[in-house]
Amino acid sequence: APAPPPAQHLFSDPAEIEALRGNLLAWYDKCKRDLPWRRLAAAEPDADRRAYAVWVSEIMLQQTQVATVIDYYNRWMQKWPTLQALAQASLEEVNELWAGLGYYSRGKRLQEAARKVVSELAGQMPRTAEDLQKLLPGVGRYTAGAIASMSYGQATGVVDGNVIRVLCRLRCIGADSSSPAVIERLWDMANALVDRSRPGDFNQALMELGATVCVPKAPLCGECPVKQHCRARRRKLFGKPAPVPDVEDCGVGSCPLCPPAAEPWDSSLGVTNFPRKAAKKPPRAARTATCVLERRGCHGAPEYLIVQRPSSGLLAGLWEFPSLPLAQGLQEEKQREVLADHLRAWTGRPVVAGGLRFIGEVVHIFSHIHQTYVVYSLPLDGDVTLDPALSPSRWVTEKEFHASAVSTAMKKVL
Ligand code: SF4
Repeated sequence: APAPPPAQHLFSDPAEIEALRGNLLAWYDKCKRDLPWRRLAAAEPDADRRAYAVWVSEIMLQQTQVATVIDYYNRWMQKWPTLQALAQASLEEVNELWAGLGYYSRGKRLQEAARKVVSELAGQMPRTAEDLQKLLPGVGRYTAGAIASMSYGQATGVVDGNVIRVLCRLRCIGADSSSPAVIERLWDMANALVDRSRPGDFNQALMELGATVCVPKAPLCGECPVKQHCRARRRKLFGKPAPVPDVEDCGVGSCPLCPPAAEPWDSSLGVTNFPRKAAKKPPRAARTATCVLERRGCHGAPEYLIVQRPSSGLLAGLWEFPSLPLAQGLQEEKQREVLADHLRAWTGRPVVAGGLRFIGEVVHIFSHIHQTYVVYSLPLDGDVTLDPALSPSRWVTEKEFHASAVSTAMKKVL
């Protein structure tokens, strides 16, 4: 077993833990934000239905701001108020509702998991964090802990970005907060701290603190309900946080939770010395040629050809203008030729490279890809017969385009 961390990084005093729980919950009861999923969960007496309401919100909130999620959440819960209703939805409907929220596999896996609960688990949600994580696709350790604590009252902690920040500051953890060793310590801490009688509220309170008070850049330490337990603040105010040992006392370079010796405490940063992360890998650059094929519809309004992406991989199952990844450094002339060849397959007739009109470039940042779309347009006369042997394709008006399961990047392209 790994050696226990030095005292200054631990919560070891039961009286302090009790006081922290009380202060945090009292603050949460008074100051929590009024959010639709909280309202729904609070009003729902049935634990499984509550779990569904929490689950949908937690999946939507992964990598996405609260303000963006609210509208999507309300529409989702109106359309599929129960797990059983979601299990009957088609992937196309799910993608349509999810369009614009990003990270599309989240919606797909939510629906797959709903189907699994209905068809394989007799409609019964797993009720512990361990089972939720084991049995439901798309439910990781965090989401499982959130559902189990908020819906079924299991005394289990959660660790998300907000919790990482708060705990690292409370206990001066300055080692790389994305490293497995630090993450494991934070899970231990979250599980030890969680209030036994109100675990769901405690977890939400810790996350709420990170989202509204202990924010990344300018935390509001003066208003913080747990400031008297915060070692980063003590260190900022007094230099040496008595009576626990100073950061240096852990032994520079040997403590697995202190800031690395090469980047010691910087007094100009104060509490924002914590947490620290290793530098992220820069996103990969990719270029894709895409063509907006346009025809006149029956009432003279323009219509556009959209085609469906494969059912796995990036943007799985979403619709887009016919597109083609480009090799790095391809000349403009060559780009047109490969795109024209590609379009020939879709339209079933020759496409002259010179007929493609270059419109401009659209840049879209996916989490790990810096994507540039090189956009062309091509007006077509007459009817174009779409080959049913290829991936699904269809003509849409502008209004239909926006109602379809298309990514934000494609909306920018249009
Ligand atoms: Fe965060 Fe400041 Fe509160 Fe410490 S005192 S937990 S740094 S807001």
